[in-house]
Amino acid sequence: MTEITLQSVTKSWGTLTALKPIDLHIPHGEFLVLLGPSGCGKTTTMRIIAGLETASSGAVLKDGADITNRLPRERNMAMVFQNYALYPHMKVLDNVAYPLRARGMARADREKTALAALEKVGLAPYADRLPKNLSGGQRQRVALARALVRSPDVFLMDEPLSNLDAKLRGAMRAEIKHIQRETGITTIYVTHDQIEAMTLADRVIIMEAGEIRQIGTPDQIYDDPDNLFVAGFLGSPPMNFIPGDIQDGAFRSGNARIAAAGITDAKEAQLGIRAEDITVVAEGEAGDLAVTVYSVEPTGDATLVVADHGKGRLVLKADKHFRPKIGATVNLRLSPNGIRYFDSASGARLR
Ligand code: ATP
Repeated sequence: MTEITLQSVTKSWGTLTALKPIDLHIPHGEFLVLLGPSGCGKTTTMRIIAGLETASSGAVLKDGADITNRLPRERNMAMVFQNYALYPHMKVLDNVAYPLRARGMARADREKTALAALEKVGLAPYADRLPKNLSGGQRQRVALARALVRSPDVFLMDEPLSNLDAKLRGAMRAEIKHIQRETGITTIYVTHDQIEAMTLADRVIIMEAGEIRQIGTPDQIYDDPDNLFVAGFLGSPPMNFIPGDIQDGAFRSGNARIAAAGITDAKEAQLGIRAEDITVVAEGEAGDLAVTVYSVEPTGDATLVVADHGKGRLVLKADKHFRPKIGATVNLRLSPNGIRYFDSASGARLR
């Protein structure tokens, strides 16, 4: 059981600031996912924790001890990368047993431990194969087993599933989550895949341009985004935004008036609402917002309708049988529980 703390960690290369001061506490046994667009600093954060990169300032603590200047091999952390390098001339069992050799473990014990790890990832029957005779997903699992045999204090995983097809990714995701739960090893996982982040994480960190924009459980960041960036980054489709202003407890946009009781006034505000929180009102009934249908996208289990609201477009998720004509006017109701307000200028959530 290991906890990790970052204290005001920064990283710059020349004039490029990759990380602004990052403060972070990762408790024992947590599965923490770093999520954000390309170049936001996820990998740099992880490499600093691993000791593969030195912070420009700040400190990294492991169980309270300062490890900022320790070598990677002195940290007892196992990394699984996107490009899992297996030794091509060694059979699977020897690949997995390899880290144990460095520790001076006897051959019979090494093989027993490696086989147990292969069993955990469901690959014991493949122990005698060479890596080239395995599928991409199986090789990935060998890499995971090799990380497992080390019984590290921390797992560091950087996009470990990105080379796999959609089906294998799903299967491996379940595998990784299961193993992490079973072993209870503190895990830090970098991805730009939202589904991976939402399904694996105890907590997700959303990063943008070297800064943490929000930390929370998957439900918290999806339901309660702190700012426009997080709201617009998560979800497929992402949250819809309607520009307007807030005055005296009401949001106004064109002819629309929507209750915003208790919300701080703002000259320029954005009403945020997710596709699933918008419903089509029966003909003749009043709604919150009238829109013009722009395109209709059946997805099998639902119909996504893209519509103009006068100041832009929104996407709503309707019943699979709902197939309006392009150009038709439709009245919508915005579920009050699904509405979030943001300040347009700062991007901050208005409460
Ligand atoms: P991706 O999802 O594309 O891997 P990331 O969020 O992991 O992105 P980082 O790899 O941490 O991003 O990079 C953060 C920033 O630091 C980027 O602007 C990147 O170009 C820069 N950077 C990373 N490594 C170096 C380096 N060795 N020298 C100079 N700049 C670097």
